[in-house]
Amino acid sequence: MTQPSLYDVAIIGYGPAGATAAALLGQAGLSVYVCDRLQGVYEIPRAIALDHEIMRVFQEIGIVKAIAPYFEPFTPSEFFGVDGQLIRRMTMVQPPYPQGYTPSMVFTQPPVEMAIRHRIAELSNVAVALGVEVTSLRQHEDSVTLSVHPEQGADTTVHARWVIACDGGASAMRAQLGIELEDLGFDEPWLVVDVRVNAQGLAKLPKTSVQYCEPERPCTYVIGPGNHRRWEISLKAGENAQDAATPEGTWKLLSRWITPQDGALWRQSSYRFHALVAERWKAGRVFLAGDAAHMQPPFLGQGMCQGIRDVANLSWKLGAVLKGQVTQGAAQALLDSYTDERKAHVRELTSRIKSVGAVICERDVEKARARDAKLLADCGGVVRDTPRQDILPALSGGLLSAQSSPGRGELFPQPKLDGGLLMDERYGYGWRLVHDGSLLGALGDFTNIDLSQPDSQEAQGVVQAWLNKRGCHAALVRPDHYVFGTAADSAKLKRLLTELTNAMHH
Ligand SMILES: Cc1cc2nc3c(=O)[nH]c(=O)nc-3n(C[C@H](O)[C@H](O)[C@H](O)COP(=O)(O)OP(=O)(O)OC[C@H]3O[C@@H](n4cnc5c(N)ncnc54)[C@H](O)[C@@H]3O)c2cc1C
Repeated sequence: MTQPSLYDVAIIGYGPAGATAAALLGQAGLSVYVCDRLQGVYEIPRAIALDHEIMRVFQEIGIVKAIAPYFEPFTPSEFFGVDGQLIRRMTMVQPPYPQGYTPSMVFTQPPVEMAIRHRIAELSNVAVALGVEVTSLRQHEDSVTLSVHPEQGADTTVHARWVIACDGGASAMRAQLGIELEDLGFDEPWLVVDVRVNAQGLAKLPKTSVQYCEPERPCTYVIGPGNHRRWEISLKAGENAQDAATPEGTWKLLSRWITPQDGALWRQSSYRFHALVAERWKAGRVFLAGDAAHMQPPFLGQGMCQGIRDVANLSWKLGAVLKGQVTQGAAQALLDSYTDERKAHVRELTSRIKSVGAVICERDVEKARARDAKLLADCGGVVRDTPRQDILPALSGGLLSAQSSPGRGELFPQPKLDGGLLMDERYGYGWRLVHDGSLLGALGDFTNIDLSQPDSQEAQGVVQAWLNKRGCHAALVRPDHYVFGTAADSAKLKRLLTELTNAMHH
């Protein structure tokens, strides 16, 4: 394709957040420029876990089949206290699975990123520039100009109506925009070790993932796909992070579980686990997304997931604005809702991740014993399964119905339909009214709204159970699958549809 002089959207950074944004916006038919200063994908896995909401986004970009070989279900995580006793057990929700996928999975990051890139290569309206660094941006009334420095050749400029900075935790764009990071109060040095373990080593290792909530040295063991095993090991005050990250230092720390005869180190790096969130997520025509907007400790494996939620949230809104599907007046509010929704969600989830971290990381023996006793007392001495998905918050504000209704802001399920297709495969993506047929009379006045109304029979009763549990007959669902509002009667449904019309066309 000849490159446009003005792209709809330019994306800085081709990590998982930037690549997913490019795929979603490209599929929506927008002209997209995406660049990265690196040529290839980052070859060492960082994210190891993700959840069904993210698989649903991967379904939308058409890569589920291609990435299937790199995924396995996440094993339960058992938490052990000071005296080695079980104090908590995190699992998955039971089938039928609400989003159509195994709720928690472990995966190998580099081939998954490659699969997104292959998909993007099929989209002629997405221009990919690798080995180029964006050195600065300048904002104008209707566009943004990026200054681009290639590894070879002369510097150039790229112009776009909107920019998404997905340039990672050290985001130079965030700094250039003068956006500060708010510290949510977590800062600890940890060593992260990935090992390819051989059969002899695997025989020695726990059969579930483990959180060792030991005051002496809190640490995490994760069963990855195949023979990939990860340890996250906290470093003590005064311990030298560089020494710990040498092969000798790392094997010493791993000696509790395995020896060098049991496997090969894939990587070992020391990190500071942080909890940080950008004060603003939008400056003029530039949005922050992914690690550029937030960082959280990896205890629930949510960092990359959050970045993909960011771009799934932003992409349909930018698409609606750029295609003129909303009035000018509504466009500003729609784009501002990105910050309102995602920042609050990130803050809430980060605070929940910190609470999980506080359980794991207690270094005071007496306090740790009190923690163990409390957790056991809370469950009457019998540790019950806590599904990891129960920890994820709903949206609490932004583009939601002003009327409170059960289920508002929650992620709506994706049922399997009779015949085996998943709901999104059959009905595509966009605004959707899912109802049990009892309120059809309310719809007559709203033929102007572009809504899909799934009418196929679901195979496992997932949606009916969802509606029943919330005491409603209909759910108005956004293109990113979050529930705008629910209705228990025709009057409420009419009100919901009026609110949606006003939100898009005022
Ligand atoms: C030890 C560890 C374990 C983790 N475990 C999990 C997990 O289990 N699950 C999970 O969901 N997340 C996890 N995460 C978090 C996850 O890895 C990150 O959140 C995710 O990789 C961030 O993606 P991103 O696209 O926002 O940024 P990045 O992957 O950092 O990508 C940013 C890209 O921008 C490019 N770039 C930067 N500046 C410029 C510029 N000026 N011009 C051009 N290009 C530029 C960079 O080269 C880079 O490719 C973990 C992280 C760590 C460190």
